[in-house]
Amino acid sequence: MIDLRFETLALFWVSTGIVVLLILWYYYDKRQRDFMRAEQMQTVFHCIKCKHIYAEKTAVGRCVCPKCGFENSQLQF
Ligand SMILES: [Zn+2]
Repeated sequence: MIDLRFETLALFWVSTGIVVLLILWYYYDKRQRDFMRAEQMQTVFHCIKCKHIYAEKTAVGRCVCPKCGFENSQLQF
């Protein structure tokens, strides 16, 4: 029979908890970075005809408003 002392089991469970927390931290940090990168890749447009604000991921320069169909240029900040 294996002799397991309380200190050994406590060390095992604390170490396992720390490893699980590190894995979760890495996973959610990577997910947040991927989300922010996707948000930064969007281009924002403001329709001068209907005042609708919309974003497109692939559009560069000019894009058609999804609400009224008017072609707008990129919103400049
Ligand atoms: Zn519009």
